[in-house]
Amino acid sequence: MRYIEPHGHMVSRTTDDYQDMVTTGCAAVCEPAFWAGFDRSSADGFQDYFCQLTEYEPKRAAKFGLPHFSWLCINPKESEDLALAKDVIGIIPQFLDRPNVLGIGEIGLNKNSRNEMKVLEMHVDLAARHDQLILVHTPHLEDKLKGTRLILDVLRADKRIRPERCIIDHVEEHTIQLVLDAGFWAGMTLYPESKCSPARAIDMLDLFSHERIWMNSACDWGVSIPLAVPRTALEMKRRGWPVDLIDKVVYRNPIEFLSQCPKFKLP
Ligand SMILES: [Zn+2]
Repeated sequence: MRYIEPHGHMVSRTTDDYQDMVTTGCAAVCEPAFWAGFDRSSADGFQDYFCQLTEYEPKRAAKFGLPHFSWLCINPKESEDLALAKDVIGIIPQFLDRPNVLGIGEIGLNKNSRNEMKVLEMHVDLAARHDQLILVHTPHLEDKLKGTRLILDVLRADKRIRPERCIIDHVEEHTIQLVLDAGFWAGMTLYPESKCSPARAIDMLDLFSHERIWMNSACDWGVSIPLAVPRTALEMKRRGWPVDLIDKVVYRNPIEFLSQCPKFKLP
């Protein structure tokens, strides 16, 4: 089996996880900037984090033969503080030329607040000005549908943004069609407890589409499984999916999206 892990927060994982991923056929891992589990106290904390994502972590992954890419932003959970968000967005451009940076993400909404919306618009503007791909986080609360609609409205309102260059992550049964119909890519996050289980993800692939869609583990410091993608691929096989179609969903689809950034190259 070969697959891409398009969304893993590897700074919070162990070297065993890297070894397991490579052993199961992982060909590349992509790491969006996210919440550290606590609020950072200043833009300097983000400066250090962006260095970690673009310097240290690719080296750590390379020790296990795994290409590592990253996405940069201030995440929605820390977007209530507009002054901090402006400072952080101000330092991102100096990192955009780094060889493993694919775009702006994971931006989006958490509680769908007014300030989060403002920071989302600032990120979308940043991406448009620098011609970057966009990776969007949708809220996990009961407001997912409302949050997804708000996010799509912001993206569609900016005429510089092309939907095929944006992926809307953490889709569920009630949001996937909205995302795909608007021309965006959709990400399904495979979590053991919340978000989307492997069984639900495969049901969605059966019901909706296997075009413009990827699956990820979004593994981080919480309850999550770094091998969720290959395990789901095994479950697809058990359910009778043709090997070629499984390969498309777990390997060729993410490559198709990510290759829109010329820096995404596999050895
Ligand atoms: Zn994430």
